[in-house]
Amino acid sequence: MSVQLAPQSISQPLLGASLEDLTAWVQEQGQPAYRGKQLHQWLYQKGIRSISEITVFPKAWRETAASANVGRSSIAHQSIASDGTIKFLLELADGNIIETVGMPTDKRLTVCVSSQVGCPMACDFCATGKSGFLRNLETHEIVDQVLTVRDVFDRRVSNIVFMGMGEPLLNVDNVLAAVRCLNEDIGIGQRSMTISTVGIPGHIRRLAQHKLQVTLAVSLHASNQKLREKLIPSARQYSIEDLFAECREYVQMTGRRLSFEYLLLAELNDLPEHAEQLAQHLRGFQSHVNLIPYNPISEVDYKRPDRHRVQQFENALKERHIAISVRYSKGLDVDAACGQLRASKIQEGSELR
Ligand code: SAH
Repeated sequence: MSVQLAPQSISQPLLGASLEDLTAWVQEQGQPAYRGKQLHQWLYQKGIRSISEITVFPKAWRETAASANVGRSSIAHQSIASDGTIKFLLELADGNIIETVGMPTDKRLTVCVSSQVGCPMACDFCATGKSGFLRNLETHEIVDQVLTVRDVFDRRVSNIVFMGMGEPLLNVDNVLAAVRCLNEDIGIGQRSMTISTVGIPGHIRRLAQHKLQVTLAVSLHASNQKLREKLIPSARQYSIEDLFAECREYVQMTGRRLSFEYLLLAELNDLPEHAEQLAQHLRGFQSHVNLIPYNPISEVDYKRPDRHRVQQFENALKERHIAISVRYSKGLDVDAACGQLRASKIQEGSELR
């Protein structure tokens, strides 16, 4: 899973490379091996944007190597929500803009990272899908999001959720390379990372073969096939039975509990019969359900259920012994909540810092 740096290459981004690769790279540049370790430390711990910042390097080489591509993006815009969540618009080297969200609590700093520019899945309730799909993110573009959030908050990142723009399992090589880097180079535990997927046939099984310690979250959102197809066009190619079968295999192969995300849309998928159906599917399944009350987006007029309806749905599942919790998304007031991220233009009038 390591990133191969071409010999003498200074155009391929350094971010995402392992200690071994960085050591090989400095040696190819005629430098002693220990400079690889220094580069690794400055890249991942100090968060340099250019090799010229590495003051422990000899001045002459620092100047030559300054043209090497570290692979950092720039912050085009950031907006702070009332709960302290910050949404970042990051500008990539090719000018594309992606969104990343930093969510602080007393004990944690969670980064919600994007895996693609836009998203091809076109789920009806999700803003990202409405802006179409442009391309997969490269490994360094994923890692960079985490470093950017860490730099701005000036604290250690404790958790990563692949719940930003895009479908991570359609960019699995780069996502896994980023997981390796975040884990081994930056020191974030795999168990503190969650990969969220809408489900792509065959891909959950394939992911299971990597035997990672990361949590897999599956965006279920419906208790039966008909309803799921209405909300998620790609579900037409993936029956709910096949999805559950792969999920069961995942639990068997990894020994890890799985999360199911269930978006709550008032009067559409939050009725008692839906709770009953969902409980039937999940009986005996080693899983945890996260209910996400719908966060409004402008293109569609789904309704967010009020707290009472959410509570009723939650109780109906609890009574049936299903492990469940409600996730009230953070950052709602700056459109940084689940499903509200888009490859947007910089918004007029929002807070600039
Ligand atoms: N493509 C991945 C990850 C991206 S979205 C996936 O589908 O899982 C992260 C979560 O936010 C998913 O569960 C997604 O369905 C949910 N989501 C999308 N739009 C939403 C909205 N408007 N309100 C609340 N959650 C939403």
